[in-house]
Amino acid sequence: MAPEGYSGVARLARARMDLYEYQGKQLFARFGIPVSEGRLATTPEEARAGAEELGGQVVVKAQVLTGGRGKAGGIQLAEGPDDAEARARDILGMDIRGHVVRRVWIEKASEIEREYYLSVTFDRGEKKPLFMFTTKGGVDIEEVAETDPDALARLHIDPLVGFQSFQARWLVFTAGLEDPDEQKQVLAIVGKLYEAFVGTDAMLCEINPLIVTPAGEVKALDSKFTVDDNALYRHTDIAEMRDPEAGDPQERLAREKGVTYVKLDGEIGILGNGAGLVMSTLDVIDQVGGRPANFCDLGGGGDAEGVVDALEVITADSQVEAILFNIFGGITRGDEVARGILEALDRMTIDLPIVVRLDGTNAAEGRAMLADAAPPNLYVEETMLSAAERVVELSKGRR
Ligand code: GDP
Ligand code: MN
Repeated sequence: MAPEGYSGVARLARARMDLYEYQGKQLFARFGIPVSEGRLATTPEEARAGAEELGGQVVVKAQVLTGGRGKAGGIQLAEGPDDAEARARDILGMDIRGHVVRRVWIEKASEIEREYYLSVTFDRGEKKPLFMFTTKGGVDIEEVAETDPDALARLHIDPLVGFQSFQARWLVFTAGLEDPDEQKQVLAIVGKLYEAFVGTDAMLCEINPLIVTPAGEVKALDSKFTVDDNALYRHTDIAEMRDPEAGDPQERLAREKGVTYVKLDGEIGILGNGAGLVMSTLDVIDQVGGRPANFCDLGGGGDAEGVVDALEVITADSQVEAILFNIFGGITRGDEVARGILEALDRMTIDLPIVVRLDGTNAAEGRAMLADAAPPNLYVEETMLSAAERVVELSKGRR
């Protein structure tokens, strides 16, 4: 398997959208998984109104796309509307691991007898959905996996055969759940969670904690729900759940401009045409000791407008120290790309060094155009390897 965080292929294949807890719970409810009633609020006043409607004790929960909200103070019990308003005022605007809280979920408070953990995720290694269940929930599941691996029941589901009810029974017995009434409820929830997972094209559906109340009722107290970006076209309702304010600003800009963009961790901005060429460019950069900051795929087009858009996205990433254009002209014509680069340099101020390797259809014309215009920070290289060496050298010169 490709190392995480390095291979662009893995990143592309992992295109995903995380949902907020309350959105995940909406989907849980749709598939018949029990959740508590709640209201969304973006202001302390709305939180008060929500608490009034719900009545009694409520929990005010920060809605951010990261876990560990409880420990960070983003989850607080409130006695009533006044208290809910005060708690919401405290939580809204809070920074939880770099995520600013702009929404809170007001939920009827639950009494908790026990906390379990249940999830289904996609195991890429096995190419199968993987269920995990443990009665040691509420805490960090990685910790359970490490300190008490036997307590964590794991089960793969063959996607072609589908989910079988005996598999849910295996999970529940293996995890040592003994109470028959609880077993019955958990079994039903496992089946419904699989339906939710498949029915929404999810990558992860996690309930931590899955609680048992003193009255013996089992329900989802939290949700972590991640769907496959590439399947959103058939779930327009879920696509609309995307928060345009959340996530990486460059990725947002790229989405708006229709540019294929993937953020990585290094300092070389990469622009190529076609996924295969872009992937090998990442490898060559690595080979010569550089690290890609991101990449844009111009696809088969690569007209001037596309180049301008991609350059805007790449240069918006402050980690980028130098840019590499790697273009192999097929349908994409070298002169067209050269025109795009020159036009972009005309329209925007780019101080970063740009290395261009042009080959294929009309490459000679393209290179001649770049040589004629000779912008100060533009370097033309003949081969992919020399271009990679050049761009890495230039990026190091800037640090
Ligand atoms: P996380 O910290 O981001 O995982 O957020 P959770 O929604 O899982 O909540 C964290 C913890 O807060 C839970 O494990 C519970 O212990 C507690 N909590 C959340 N909601 C309630 C509630 O309705 N009643 C009680 N008593 N505790 C709650
Ligand atoms: Mn949780």
